[in-house]
Amino acid sequence: MRLRLLLFIPIILITLMLNTSNLSCSPNASNAIEHINEPGIIDVHAHIGEFKGFDLSLNSLLATMSESNIEYAFISNIDGAAISGVTADGDETTVNEKTAKISSENPKLKPLFWAKPGAKGASAEIAEKFLRDKKFYGIKFHPDFNNFQANSASVIPYLALCQKYNVPALFHCGGSPRSSAKVIYEVAKKFPNVPFVLYHMGFNTSHEEAINVAQEAKNKKDALIYLEISHVPVQEILKAIKTVGADRVIFGTDATYYGRNHYDTYLGPLKTIKGAISATEFQQFIHNNAVEIFHLPSSTPSQGNQQKNEPSTGKSEDKTRKN
Ligand SMILES: [Zn+2]
Repeated sequence: MRLRLLLFIPIILITLMLNTSNLSCSPNASNAIEHINEPGIIDVHAHIGEFKGFDLSLNSLLATMSESNIEYAFISNIDGAAISGVTADGDETTVNEKTAKISSENPKLKPLFWAKPGAKGASAEIAEKFLRDKKFYGIKFHPDFNNFQANSASVIPYLALCQKYNVPALFHCGGSPRSSAKVIYEVAKKFPNVPFVLYHMGFNTSHEEAINVAQEAKNKKDALIYLEISHVPVQEILKAIKTVGADRVIFGTDATYYGRNHYDTYLGPLKTIKGAISATEFQQFIHNNAVEIFHLPSSTPSQGNQQKNEPSTGKSEDKTRKN
């Protein structure tokens, strides 16, 4: 009898434990997961295409965007990157046609041209077709994945197009001599009216150089530098906002680097940032700066107005639009 009782106790305990773990896996519990929920968030850095080892699928992007109430994401096709065995290294026309198709089918996705300066068959003429005829919103450059220096001669014709069509240049900013903030600043000074967005504000660096560059450009008014915050520790993001100003720091996430639940990674940092700056600064950071550089309609964010301003004609009066 006593032996039986001893046998029963562990069984009861195990049953209780199983019930508890069932509870934590119930649908109600998973629905309670908190997501970003700030109206009007614009992500200036997202991808389509394939990168070995990462889930960059369109389904994951759309699902995590919808769950986290992201208004727009600006996409470029990473199939343009030239990393042997990892990315497709497709030509400019093919990869950007895919961006055009996907963004035309999904109004929350806005197209950016993936440029390959100096690559075989690549040219600013190709880029111009996408800016002029397909209303692309900007040109994305990845000096490290496409093996060119940000300030090299092959980049200039593309940047001239950014000026002509009044659209931003978005650079992967790392720490290498090809992609450092200083090198990008050098070329940005040649196009002082073009917004230059520094993705990652110095990937894998202390971010100090990018912050200094943005501050110097703002003080001297000799270039328009914006710092984008994907993969940047929250304290460095706050330092950038406090040092350079919320009008020069912009929300971007490198979606969907973290896969299906990508935006959840940014929930904590966003809360910290929101708690540390004014409501006006927070709006600049998540929404207004993007509206300004991409010339999005300034109506209520939730209206989802898809119109954008016509690209400029390249005439001189357009150059005075921004300082
Ligand atoms: Zn990226």
